[in-house]
Amino acid sequence: MANDKLVLHPQDPWAILHDPALLLEALRSRGLIGGSFGWHGENHYAAGPRFGELVRFKRFAEPEGRELHVSLSETAEDPAFLGATSTQPPHCPACRGIFSDWRAQLLAWRREDHRRRWTCARCGKGVEVHQLDWAHTGGLARYSLDLWGIRQSAAIPSAELLSLLERVTLEEWNYFYHWLGTDPARRVQSRVQPS
Ligand SMILES: [Zn+2]
Repeated sequence: MANDKLVLHPQDPWAILHDPALLLEALRSRGLIGGSFGWHGENHYAAGPRFGELVRFKRFAEPEGRELHVSLSETAEDPAFLGATSTQPPHCPACRGIFSDWRAQLLAWRREDHRRRWTCARCGKGVEVHQLDWAHTGGLARYSLDLWGIRQSAAIPSAELLSLLERVTLEEWNYFYHWLGTDPARRVQSRVQPS
């Protein structure tokens, strides 16, 4: 559970983070993060005083205090697939068909310099990777803001947090749940929508 996380990332898979210090300062002054500490060789941040407002937990899914922490990855050279075993096949934005061959398309996309469009088997359309709808189970980006210790669908980012991220980075943001377990009982059938 300690390795479960809510991953926030720019919707544009090519977006880079121009000024990490500026973003960290904005997150600190708004109350998402507190002091930093070492975590398996990386710099992580304790949950700040307003974490529970900026990330909205469902009732009965309260955070397990000390497990909550935050990290900001460095910008990678290329967009990377950030999902895990919890990732479900993405949907086509045009026809809602499912990309059941998504792993093969992911490999082809990587092989062709991350520029290749994915082909929908149902409607035949070419789809850019940023248009794929992963239903908050996966995503592609060059960097991400990871909120550790949040179980799948236990919480959603608030509108305040998303708009802060968008204002500081000038990018639209999306999010998904990342976990490595295989217990099907923990998979949710319905999507989590911001309310
Ligand atoms: Zn389609």
